[in-house]
Order: sequence, then C-alpha cells, then structure tokens
Amino acid sequence: VSPATVLPVAVEAPQYTGLLRPLSYTSEQPLAPGTLVHVPLGKRRVPGVVWRGSAEVPENNELRPVAAHLTRLPPLPDDWLALVEFAAAYYQRGIGELALAVLPPELRRLDDAGLARRQARWAAAAKRSARAGAPAVLPPSPPELLPEQSAALARIAQEGAGTTLLHGVTGSGKTEVYLRCVERALAGHSQAQALLLVPEINLTPQLEARVAQRFPQHRVVSLHSRLTPPQRLANWMAAHNGQAQVVLGTRLAVFTPLPGLALIVVDEEHDASYKQQEGARYSARDLAVWRGRQRAVPVLLGSATPSLESWVRAQQGRYALATMSTRAASPAELEAGAASPAPAHAGAASPTSAQAGAASPTPAHAGMPRLRLVDMLALPHPRGQPPVLAPALVAALQERLARGEQSLLLLNRRGYAPVLHCAACGWKSGCPNCSAWRVFHKIDRSLRCHHCGLAQAVPRACLDCGNLDIAPLGRGTEKLSEELQALLPQARVARIDADSTRAAGALDAQLAAVHAGEVDILVGTQMVAKGHDFRRMTLVAAVNPDAGLFSSDFRASERLFALLLQAAGRAGRSAAQASASEMWIQTQHPRHPLYAALERHDYAGHAQTLLAERQAAGLPPFSHLALLRADAKQAEQATAFLQHAAELAALLPEAAPVALYPAVPHPLARVANVERVQMLVESRSRQALQRFLWAWLPALHPLPRQHKGVIRWAVDVDPMAI
Ligand SMILES: [Zn+2]
Ligand SMILES: [Zn+2]
Repeated sequence: VSPATVLPVAVEAPQYTGLLRPLSYTSEQPLAPGTLVHVPLGKRRVPGVVWRGSAEVPENNELRPVAAHLTRLPPLPDDWLALVEFAAAYYQRGIGELALAVLPPELRRLDDAGLARRQARWAAAAKRSARAGAPAVLPPSPPELLPEQSAALARIAQEGAGTTLLHGVTGSGKTEVYLRCVERALAGHSQAQALLLVPEINLTPQLEARVAQRFPQHRVVSLHSRLTPPQRLANWMAAHNGQAQVVLGTRLAVFTPLPGLALIVVDEEHDASYKQQEGARYSARDLAVWRGRQRAVPVLLGSATPSLESWVRAQQGRYALATMSTRAASPAELEAGAASPAPAHAGAASPTSAQAGAASPTPAHAGMPRLRLVDMLALPHPRGQPPVLAPALVAALQERLARGEQSLLLLNRRGYAPVLHCAACGWKSGCPNCSAWRVFHKIDRSLRCHHCGLAQAVPRACLDCGNLDIAPLGRGTEKLSEELQALLPQARVARIDADSTRAAGALDAQLAAVHAGEVDILVGTQMVAKGHDFRRMTLVAAVNPDAGLFSSDFRASERLFALLLQAAGRAGRSAAQASASEMWIQTQHPRHPLYAALERHDYAGHAQTLLAERQAAGLPPFSHLALLRADAKQAEQATAFLQHAAELAALLPEAAPVALYPAVPHPLARVANVERVQMLVESRSRQALQRFLWAWLPALHPLPRQHKGVIRWAVDVDPMAI
C-alpha cells in the first residue's frame, strides 16, 4: 500500500463558519486539482473540490480520507480554480462556499453511477436527433452592416484581447455587433467558445432562437436559473467538455468552465442584475472583465446607458470605446432584410420631428422618440389630487388606439396600492414583521408584504377603530390597469409585473401576446422596459418616475436615467414609426436636469453631471465601498456587534487609509422580525480596502459568541446601494 497523498479540498461551508481556505484530506490515489469529491466534515458528508496548491498538514491531527470522487467528470480546469480563488478573495467569501455555489446543484448529489446514467441519456438523445437527420441548415446571410456597426467592429478588432465598451443607443444594432464578434471568435480556431451574458429578464426564447439560428452549425446552450436542474447540468457539461460553442446565460454563467474561451460579451452591462445579492455577492460584469484578462480574450461590454464605472474607464482609456449613436432600423427588420439600411439620420429628414422639437434633431438622437414632459402640478386638481393620467396623455393613447398602434405605461410599483389606510384614525397596513407597508392586492383582496411574504385577507373594517371606510392610498400597476380600462373601455389592456408572471412560462406567453398585437396598452414595471423589441409600440409613458430623483440611494438617479432612456427605446423600434413615436413623462419637477438630459437623449452630458456629483461626495467610482451588515433579533445587539468590529479595526495598521462610518439601520431596517444594521467602509484605493478587509474580517469570526442575538453577519464588497 502506497502512502496516502494529502490533498487540499475546498468544502461547502457558509461564511460565518470562518472556513475560508481548503481543508486537508488523504487519498490512496492521487487526485488532480479540480476533481469533485465527497468528504467527511464533522458528522456530515459534504461535496468538495480538490484544490490546487499544497495542503496544510496540521500537527498532531489525524487527517480523514476522501470518501468518494467523481471519475466521470473531467477535473475543473486550472483557470476555473483561479477564477473562483480570485472571486472568493475579492468578495471575502470561502473558496469552497463559492465553488460549490456556482456549480450546477445536481453535481452536489450525483455519484459516478448517477452521472453515468445521465451521460448515457444525453448520448442517446444526441444519437436520436442525429438519426432524425440534422437539417443541413446554412447560416442565414447576415444583414448588411451600417457604417457605425462596421466602425465599431473595426475598433473592437483593433483592441484585440482587451475590454471594449460599446456605447450604442437603443436600436443602433448592438446585437448584430455581438453576433459578428461571436462569428469572428468561432472562426478563430476549431475549439473556440463564446460566452454571451445577458440580464435575467432579457434572456427570452426570441433571443435564444435568434442566436441559435445564426449559428446552425454550432451548439448553442443557455444557462440561467429558470432551467430545471437536469437541463442546467446537461448544458453546463456541454460547455465544460467543449461541445457547446456558444453559451448564452445570466450572471451565474460567468463561472462556466470554458476550455476554448475566445470571447466574452456582456449585454446591458449597467444592469443591476449582474450583481448577486445573496450569499457570495459577486458582480458578473466585473468578473467577466477579470476573466477576459486572465484568458487574454476580448471582452465586449454593451449598453445604451453604461454604468458610470465603465464609462469612466473608457474615458481614461482603460477600455476602448466604440460608439453607435444612430438609431436606424430595428434589428429584426435588418435581420429579415425587409428594409435596406435606413439613411444615417432618419429623423432629420422628417418634417414632423423638425417642427415639433425646439431644436431640430441632432445626430445624437436621430430617430429617437420625442420627449413630452407633463407638469402634473400645473394641471387642474378637481378632487385635491392631480389626475392619474394627464388628459393630453389620454388623448395621445386614444390616437394610438385608433391607428392600431401599441402603448406602454411604466409604473415601478406592483400591486393595487402601496398601502391601505383608515381616514378616521390614521391606521395604515404596516407589516407586523417588517419596517414596510403591506401592499393591497385587489385581485385576491389580500394584504401582502413584499419583503417577508406575509399575506392576509383584507380586514372588513379598520383594525384599530372599526371604521368600515378603509381605502387604498397611492397606486400600483394593478390599480393603474383598472383606471386605464375605465378611461379607455375599448382598449385591450395587459399588465406585466412580478405578480402577473409568477407562473412558469407566464412571462413568455404575455410577451408573445404583445408581439402578436393582441394588446393595445401594456402596463408594467421596469420588467418590460428592458430589451424587448415591441414592433408596434409608438408611445411610452412613465406615469410617476419622480421618486428616483430624490432617493437617498446614490445610484437612484443613474438607474432612473437608464430606465427611462431604455423605456424610450421601446417606442418606434421600426424606422417607419420613429418620427411619430413619443416618450411621455408625468412629473412634478419638469425642470429637473435629468429630464432635460433625457430630452436631448444626452447620456454623456448626464454622466458628466453625475460624475461631478459623485466626485464631490467621494462616492464610487471615485471611492471604493464595502458594507458590513449584522442581523439580530434586536437592533441594539446588531449595533453592539458592529461597534465591537469597529474597535477591532482601530487596532489595525491597515485601517489607516480606510474610513469607517457609524453603524446605521439598513434602509429597510426590519424584515421578518430581524433587525438589520450596517456599517460603511470606504477607501480611495481599492487595494487598500482589500488589504484592510483581509486583515479585519478574520478577527470578526469569533465575535458572534460574545454577541448573543446576532443571527448572521456578512460583508458586501462594491455594494449596489448604501
Ligand atoms: Zn381606523
Ligand atoms: Zn413583512
């Protein structure tokens, strides 16, 4: 018997256990780094990954043997191990915790026999489809490129294995540029693979079909959270084995092992959904850039409204910048070859748009919908309240209806009304478990908390004073649809939000109905503002967007601008409609600079204003942030934990270039009877912040023992909100 090898194994253990590094186990046979294993941990048997590097052999400590290993799975490659190592270090999580969290869940429970059965099933299915005769489809001839698309492709090619920010207005044909880059990458060598990341909500069957249709000779797989666990494993394996050449996925796909990786595309790179908000809080966009550098492959970040972080880097020359400012024809139109490429400045030629605007359209927003700002305070208030929809907007909706065109009403609040209210005693439908109102849902007459999920039937009378006349306050999408239907009884109104799309397949079905022209007016939350290409839509209205202007969240204004510009892009996707399309904004602050920038479709100008504000306030991208959060039964317990943590920080030399702010309640202080308190850590230097976190956090692991009542604590590096 040969002496057993000692191996480092990364095991799944949550952050609070303080188990950040791989543990040591013995094995009779040498196992390559990246091999999936099962190992004993305490009294349990847990999955793990044999890690790279040497194992630490503790003195006087009996090492336990690896219980089993998967021989049917090729070991995870070294660059994957390096990626996970980097992400775990940067986001301050355990290597094993992150590694197991980003692998397909099925791999945690399957043994060799189980995996063999799966592989036999996949092989049989592949054989069946081969026998059925794979249609010898030739790739469709790609559409003719517009001059700006050609220029962008040349810029990307010139940048080579670097990062390029593609700033392209909605409808300028970014997707076609992505597809050309994929084509180029796949032509590079026979094993080449391309990774295409999109926000969750944009990953529609239409997009999948479009990509698959473009590459009929290649295998295209998708990776996202809506797949069943077996589907996800099959697609992941195809990528890992190099059998899939194009991987289309959401943020979790950034961790796909891709032996032939030749290109990464991040569509809508500014989208907040790229940041994981639970567990290991990583940014898939930032990891994509890191991975591109690691593998020396091009990374393409695309957006009509880039994140300020990426925009600054492009201005500094750290990213190449390719700009497409002309909205020509919709991609679908180009795809179908239905229209020859429209003249560069379609809008400028149209007499209507020249008359309507104060200035004639400049190339910067040619073909974009006209902005109509409605001053809600200037309207008559018959019952002490401004009308839901301005009469002029209702008239514009009616016109669209008469012409058989579609409209979109955007309201970022689902449910019927945000709160139920008793006028007699002032009672409001608060959630007993959270510092939030319970939202009134009329459809099933329930009061539902959107944070802890508590749902109850609406009381018949006020719970405090017995008054029967309790009424909804404010407005959600459900109420807006109802009011709209009353104003325009002949219109076919549909609503798309998180409530209407809860059932599997519901969103795709509802979107299909809009595309098929079965809907005249669509009411929705930000879900519908992104990505979808509604061909007959010529009017988009933001019903009440003002909240984003004055939020305490420092990114709110950046997000609102992106949302409204994206929503505007839903109107007039077809070149023929561009001159007639409109974006309406109902506001009480018509002179706000954000709306002025929106009117000019001036992303760069608005970004400059925001960057000046951020610089003055010392906020990202001019500083680097981390949030330490503690959750406890009582707020005082969480605060005491954070104060103790701050005292420990003061002892560290690494704390010198770092500022620690006092502990404050989370903006949503209580959820499900747990109090949440947070402390902001800030530094001008990313490296200094990282060095400090590495020195500080290990000292915090023993603290919960002294602070009874603290349920959990976690750090969020580069938080989206503070
Ligand atoms: Zn009352
Ligand atoms: Zn609640």
